[in-house]
Amino acid sequence: MELVPAKAILARPKDDSWFGNDYNMNLYRGCCHGCIYCDSRSECYGVEDFDRVRLKKNALGILESELGKKRKKGVVGVGAMSDTYNPFEKEAEATRGALELLERYGFGVALDTKSSLVLRDIDLIQKISRKSCANIKVTITTADDSLAKVIEPYAPVSSERFRTVRELGRAGIFTGVLFTPMLPYITDTEENVKEMVRLAHENGARFIFPMFGVTLRQNQRDYYYEKLDEYFPGLSRKYGNVFRGNYFCGSPQAKKLRSLFQSECRKYGLIFRMQDIIAAYKKLPPEPRQLSLF
Ligand code: SF4
Repeated sequence: MELVPAKAILARPKDDSWFGNDYNMNLYRGCCHGCIYCDSRSECYGVEDFDRVRLKKNALGILESELGKKRKKGVVGVGAMSDTYNPFEKEAEATRGALELLERYGFGVALDTKSSLVLRDIDLIQKISRKSCANIKVTITTADDSLAKVIEPYAPVSSERFRTVRELGRAGIFTGVLFTPMLPYITDTEENVKEMVRLAHENGARFIFPMFGVTLRQNQRDYYYEKLDEYFPGLSRKYGNVFRGNYFCGSPQAKKLRSLFQSECRKYGLIFRMQDIIAAYKKLPPEPRQLSLF
């Protein structure tokens, strides 16, 4: 596998509002899952030839030296810019090596993936969870496998991802569904929202976190429109008319779908608010409630 030079592995996010991440880590550059909406394709991230996966040279050596120097332990977010469980990871075992280091140095992990390869590392994630905390977010955007094949062509289909959620949950790992993005006029239907929440519940997810729209910018938009023209004729023109080049393209159904989503989550007892998810996986004490005299 091709190696690319790297100076650092850990980066500090602007704040910890995204799932309580204290650090972010990407061991790989590029991703081969081919999701038509992928934000990491955007020019601003500077990943040339995005669909080609490359491993950062001496990633584990750099990571170990960074972890050893950190005064503040915390949660390391993995998988924001590329799926760390790409097919090459099976042999490269860089993610596995990184998890071993996080465990050894007492850091937690919050990992996003679409791949069932994460199941290989259940033993390490359990150890991290016991020592610190772990949150595995399996990204699933549609309950329909044939649609998943179109919008996320080289990732495992949705039903396999739901099975991954179930296996992780059975192993006692805090696991949920990242229901992001929701593609206007494609996946933003009442049927999809209801099915997604039901399947998340049936497969033992601890949470489901949604985004009622998709972000589009620069060349990422061009790529997305190209794929719309290929699979959903006429839709790129509609996007142009409705969203007029906006960064956030919210579903025109967002209000109705949000309310349906919340009522379905309540029906099944699934948490969905960011602060509740963070509190649950970090095992934080419940927020103190105002005492009432009455
Ligand atoms: S799995 Fe994630 S990083 Fe990879 S192409 Fe899909 S959205 Fe992009």
